[in-house]
Amino acid sequence: KTKGISDLSGVGQAILNKLNDSGYSSLESIAVASPQDLSTAAGIPLTTAQRLIREAREALDIRFKTALEVKKERANVRKITTSSQALDGLLGGGIETRTMTEFFGEFGSGKTQICHQVSVNVQLPPEKGGLSGKAVYIDTEGTFRWERIEAMAKAQGIDPDSAMSNIYYMRAINTDHQIAIGDDLQELINKDPAIKVVIVDSVTSHFRAEYVGRENLAVRQQKLNKHLHQLVRLAEVYELAVIVTNQVMSRPDMFYGDPTVAVGGHTLYHTPGIRVQVKKSRGNRRIARMVDAPHLPEGEVVFAITEEGIRD
Ligand code: ADP
Ligand code: MG
Repeated sequence: KTKGISDLSGVGQAILNKLNDSGYSSLESIAVASPQDLSTAAGIPLTTAQRLIREAREALDIRFKTALEVKKERANVRKITTSSQALDGLLGGGIETRTMTEFFGEFGSGKTQICHQVSVNVQLPPEKGGLSGKAVYIDTEGTFRWERIEAMAKAQGIDPDSAMSNIYYMRAINTDHQIAIGDDLQELINKDPAIKVVIVDSVTSHFRAEYVGRENLAVRQQKLNKHLHQLVRLAEVYELAVIVTNQVMSRPDMFYGDPTVAVGGHTLYHTPGIRVQVKKSRGNRRIARMVDAPHLPEGEVVFAITEEGIRD
């Protein structure tokens, strides 16, 4: 199965380097390229460029489909429970595979607790709301706690040590490292197809810290977009769930958009997927709000964070 540029027929290291140098770093970029441009950039004959484009489109399944085909594809989507019926309900049954779900909200709103809970719950058998799978947890803020996994696993009747050995953990130290980890995920998932959820908590913090000031916004956005598309593609190709968190101030558009030019909360960036805002409420109560999901109604629910994990 074609998963990267190097899988296209006749693409060796030399052509791969030329493509990369000219900015063709993904199958998507080749699929939408003009044959003429691609031919010039890679120093390959026009007919070869045309073939690469055709192959990239086939690999990405870029073609007309019938609505019935779309329905059948959606039928393959599976769900992971959050351990809150209310939150599952908001999500249309749970965290979906083949989809990127973003939780955004202020510090302490429960984003990291949700990530911990899903990395435990993905291990549950399907009849209990899991996928009998494993998790990848990419931690950029150093807030992962094995103690929380232990407590949540015990509460689910899962052996804590076995729960922890089913979670691949990596601390990302900066944006380049984070993107490199994203690149390596394919290999890890090929090696261990039991991986059914990839979590990046938080996906934005390094980008925010490294690219400050409006003169760096364009580069920051470009790099972040690349990373997000990397993750979206992973979700589609490997049929797994991707969860990202994004810490924001009270204005959700402050990071995605450019606060220095934004008028009326204009959002510059949209990745396909589901966006859920989480907010603090009284005590251990939290509010989750569905924001522009393509196929789910907007709405708000209340859930709780307890010692045992996410609950109603
Ligand atoms: P965010 O990632 O959105 O900044 P977290 O997911 O880290 O927020 O949520 C932190 C909150 O989770 C804490 O304020 C606390 O209320 C709750 N929490 C963390 N650990 C426990 C625990 N062991 N028992 C109960 N609640 C906890
Ligand atoms: Mg957090």
